[in-house]
Amino acid sequence: MNTLNDPLENRNGQLFIDGVSAQTLVEKFDTPLYVISERRIRNNYQRLKAALTRNYSKFKIYYAMKANSNLAVLKVLESEGVCVDAVSPGEVFMALTSGFTPERILFTGTSVRNDELKFLSDSNVIINVDSQSQLIRLLKINVPKTLSVRINPEIGAGHHEHCITAGKESKFGVWEQDAVKAYTTAKEAGVEKFGIHMHIGSGILDSKPYLDALERLLAVAKKVHDQAKVNFEFIDIGGGLGVPYGPEDKPLDLQAYSDKVLSAFKAKMSQYDLGEPTLHIEPGRYLVADASILLTAVNTLKVTPYRKFVGVDAGFNTLIRPAMYGSYHHIIVANKLVATEEEKYDVAGPICESGDLLAKDRCLPRIEEGDLLAVLNAGAYGFSMSSQYNARPRAAEVLVKEGKYKLVREREQLDDLMQGQQQAIEWQ
Ligand SMILES: *Cc1c(COP(=O)(O)O)cnc(C)c1O
Repeated sequence: MNTLNDPLENRNGQLFIDGVSAQTLVEKFDTPLYVISERRIRNNYQRLKAALTRNYSKFKIYYAMKANSNLAVLKVLESEGVCVDAVSPGEVFMALTSGFTPERILFTGTSVRNDELKFLSDSNVIINVDSQSQLIRLLKINVPKTLSVRINPEIGAGHHEHCITAGKESKFGVWEQDAVKAYTTAKEAGVEKFGIHMHIGSGILDSKPYLDALERLLAVAKKVHDQAKVNFEFIDIGGGLGVPYGPEDKPLDLQAYSDKVLSAFKAKMSQYDLGEPTLHIEPGRYLVADASILLTAVNTLKVTPYRKFVGVDAGFNTLIRPAMYGSYHHIIVANKLVATEEEKYDVAGPICESGDLLAKDRCLPRIEEGDLLAVLNAGAYGFSMSSQYNARPRAAEVLVKEGKYKLVREREQLDDLMQGQQQAIEWQ
């Protein structure tokens, strides 16, 4: 596969990202290095917005910031007008710091502590409760004006078992049989405005699971509307829009998704007499995944009687998706884009665990030590899931735009590994 998607470009065999040479960035900032294209993020957002606009004008896009919470990324999306889906007080704090007003932040958390509920209440963000327990504890702290309940529509989907966030085995959401009670409790306590929410999973490439789950969610909404006498300000259908990672993955047909899901939504709104609530959608991956690559340098070639290993400086400490979910990430050789693929390699990171492979049995051009690999579609759940495991400082991140570049996260230094720790404890 030698076709590169915008903003990636092949200039005489060398990789450029929105007009910036990968080699230049690496000379300047070293590896492993995340390179993020501002233009691609904006394009992804605008494409999604255009697809939705054609079918329904009252919608809001909430960016699920856990996918990539770099402040520069948040700022780019803030300037586009998105809202934020936050899953922790830390994310709320970062979103507020990035200039999002509280009305633009929806908190959806699970196993939330009382002090966290207090912080969220004080921050005035909209809270989407995950359980009756959370609701009752919240109401004791403060009765918000607006409240939403996450429903488990009993249908989940996703690219990996860990990424399915609804259905029988799921820890998320309130079940239909408890929904009326939750809204009644909130209403009696004095909550005035309501939303209803679902998020069924991640990495979904077709519309069918959304349609099935939406039907279930709206049936619950109807029941709540009738029995708890609640009108909905918004209906949130969650995120999970997938992107193609592997060469055989077909991209989500965004317009078909919008046409099908939004027409089903509108039909049910009028059938159930639910008025014209605002539709919320919460993409994380879709907005940022293909806007970023991970550059990693080859330091070792090792041939054993069984395998050919390419040793690189990014491991599952830098990008955990292959090790954690078995995810495929396409890899290209940034300094040999014209070479033909001729060898099968395992691309191995520096972490002392056998599972630390970015790719297995991968066809690549003949690799030499010193080559530069680019791991594609690394913008979602890449840096945000990275760690210091094996005492490796976290990578740097650089933002590029039309031939220019800016460091947006410094590479961690050895000192950062010891931050906040104490040694030589003298017991009294
Ligand atoms: C993670 C998450 C999302 C976004 O998931 P993506 O697959 O990245 O689109 C949306 N809503 C909630 C509540 C989430 O936890």
